[in-house]
Order: sequence, then C-alpha cells, then structure tokens
Amino acid sequence: MPELPEVETIARQLRERGVEGREILALRIDWPRMVEPLTPAAFSNALCGTKINTVSRTGKWIQIQLSSGQHWMVHLRMAGSFSKRRSKFDRAEVLLSGGMKLYFRDTRKFGRWKLVDDPQEILGQLGPDALSKHFTGTYLEQQLTHRKRAIKPLLLDQSLIAGIGNIYADEALWATSIHPQRCSSSLTPEERKALYRAIRHVLRIGVQNRGTSLGKGQTNYRDMNGESGSHRKRVKAYGRKGLPCERCGTPLIKIVVVQRGTTLCPTCQVR
Ligand SMILES: [Zn+2]
Repeated sequence: MPELPEVETIARQLRERGVEGREILALRIDWPRMVEPLTPAAFSNALCGTKINTVSRTGKWIQIQLSSGQHWMVHLRMAGSFSKRRSKFDRAEVLLSGGMKLYFRDTRKFGRWKLVDDPQEILGQLGPDALSKHFTGTYLEQQLTHRKRAIKPLLLDQSLIAGIGNIYADEALWATSIHPQRCSSSLTPEERKALYRAIRHVLRIGVQNRGTSLGKGQTNYRDMNGESGSHRKRVKAYGRKGLPCERCGTPLIKIVVVQRGTTLCPTCQVR
C-alpha cells in the first residue's frame, strides 16, 4: 500500500513530467465509485477547461490545485498510481494540453478522487505530515505520553501523524528496538527521541529510493514510469519474516497487531 514515500514519488514525478501549468482537455473515468459522491460526468465537467496550478502531497493525499480554485484530491489507497503508459488496469485517462496523457492505474479499485473547494475539508482531519516541520519531536512526545495505546497502531493513526503505514512503522520500530505492542506511555525519553529520528530517517530514505515495492505482482506499488521502488533492498524488517535480524541474527517473526501483519525481531524488540 502506498505510504508517504510512495505518494511523494508519484507527486514529484507528476511535477517532473510538467503537468503543472497544463490545461485539462478531456477526462474519462471508467470506475464510477472512484469519484463518488460525484458522477464521472460531473467530475469530468468540473475539471475540463481548468489548468493544473500545482501538485503537492500531504500525508498519503496528492493535492492538485486547479485554476478554478477547486482542489482535485487523490488517495492511492491499496494500489493506485498515475502512469504515463496505458495498461489494462486503468480506471481513468486524462488528456492534458500539449498532447500529454496520464493514466490512473488501479488494480484493486480502492483509489479515491475527491473534488473540494477547500483542501482542509480532507487534510483538516489529519495530524501533521510526518516529513513536515509541524511534526516535531515535542509533538510526538506529547502524543506518546498522553495516550496509553500500543505504539504501532498509534503510529498508523492518520489523525495523529499523516503518512506512516505498515512498512515504515515496522522499519522505525525495528530501528529503535521497540516492540510494536509496547504501551506508548511506557517509552523512555531516549526511546521517544530515537523513535522520532527513526521515523524521519526511514521516510527520507524511502523517498530517496522512490518508495518500496515488494514482490513482482500487478498489485504492487509502481511509480509513474511503471517501475517498482528500489527501497525494498534497504528494508530491515517489513516482509523479512524468517530472515536473520541484521543486528543480532535471530530470525524475524511475524505477528498480528490490530489486524496488521507486523514483522519484528523477537530478541531485539522485547515487549
Ligand atoms: Zn535482532
């Protein structure tokens, strides 16, 4: 599932391709549920004839600011992605001025598009973006100490911190030797500081490597060029069940924490 680094990669590639400043000439939507509560026709009518001013990202949302003053908000959910190449998994096709075409590829059909006058209608429900200046060590400390929740679900809660998902939560907890089911308020000041640094570090490295893709299946994350991110080679915990911990050599185990598969080292990460 695309998390902050994967969504950031797509947003950057949209900008690098030069979609900013182009006019939306035509839009075909083949999967009506994607744009609910609007109909494909209403969504398309609102976008056609407007220009794309800017493309940015907050948490796992891509925000496309339009010259009409409205904002086209895109959530990739399980497996959505913009692509410059056509595929049989395309749910929408966008024609931009200059003859540029964009395809919205989504094998799982969970991706969602919203059209809003004010992006805060969506972003206002999120905590600070995990790579923004608003996500500080002090903020994380407050969230951890004021709550008595298992640490991993807390990190995944988008209303507290926006952008972290299963991959990068497992990575940050492995890096700091913290068990995913530890109570958030039980972390020592040193562990809290280390966790803050680890979250920022794993996300930054993820962005540098254009995200993480595991496996070669069609449902795996692909960037705009159809390539899987190179971050999988850097992953220390996520998806490495049975492989030796890079710190102590113990085979990693997989457990379920609040319905999410979670990989950890049973020696380094004690409860
Ligand atoms: Zn270990």
